[in-house]
Amino acid sequence: MNPMAEADLFALESAALANARAAHADPRADARAALAELIIHYERLMRESRRLIRRSDRAELDMNQMNRQLHELAQQLEYRATHDPLSGALNRAAVIDKATACLRRVDMALIVLDIDHFKWINDDFGHPAGDAVIKTVVSCLRTLLGPDVAVGRVGGEEFSVIWPTADTEEARAVAIRICDAIADQVFAAPIDRQITASVGVSWNSVGTSFELAYSRADEALYAAKRAGRNCVKIHSQLPLPAAQAAIAEL
Ligand code: GH3
Ligand code: MG
Ligand code: MG
Repeated sequence: MNPMAEADLFALESAALANARAAHADPRADARAALAELIIHYERLMRESRRLIRRSDRAELDMNQMNRQLHELAQQLEYRATHDPLSGALNRAAVIDKATACLRRVDMALIVLDIDHFKWINDDFGHPAGDAVIKTVVSCLRTLLGPDVAVGRVGGEEFSVIWPTADTEEARAVAIRICDAIADQVFAAPIDRQITASVGVSWNSVGTSFELAYSRADEALYAAKRAGRNCVKIHSQLPLPAAQAAIAEL
């Protein structure tokens, strides 16, 4: 601290203290007057200290509140950067990040699904009804798979599920449960018909790139579409020569 500033700030108190010291040292001095002056300045110092403590308590409360608001804001920003605003599912970028991180650590199935003839739903019931179907499909997946499973909306009416597993049969079983759950889901009015999805699965050993995992799953998805929709196709992980041979039948 600047010694000049300190001297200025306590100039009156320093003078009163000097008087009191002198009076204390000199038996002939007017000790009562020096004590009275000291009391006045001591009381002023106490008032000032109380005021400063109150002010710093208020500043601390304000700072804590601002910290909480900043923390909430950072969480909201993080949520918006990683989630689809319509359905609350992970967005495409977050799916890529999570699947890439997962594939660095373990074997992983990537399950992609696309609602069948979704264009007709929009055409027949309107765009808002189509939006409601997208939301219901996501909540159906959440209910089926639980809150810890990464469910993403990677396109208009296309979704991904990241399923870490070393077991290809388990991946197939999960994909079939997904396909069945959507076919069994009852959608709110005005939707008056069954809605189905086609599902493609790739099983990928640890170290596979996301791009490869996704293109394999996408290939399987389109095989499911070609096979008549409302079904699951698995892309074999084996390096089979012909593209059509890479699609394993259920
Ligand atoms: P397929 O069985 O081959 O998948 O046929 P489809 O009709 O589902 O596929 P297509 O790609 O022809 O149509 C998808 C439609 O999804 C077209 C687009 O207008 C609609 N769509 C995309 N995003 C949204 C959205 O956020 N809300 C709504 N309501 N519709 C969307
Ligand atoms: Mg579709
Ligand atoms: Mg589509």
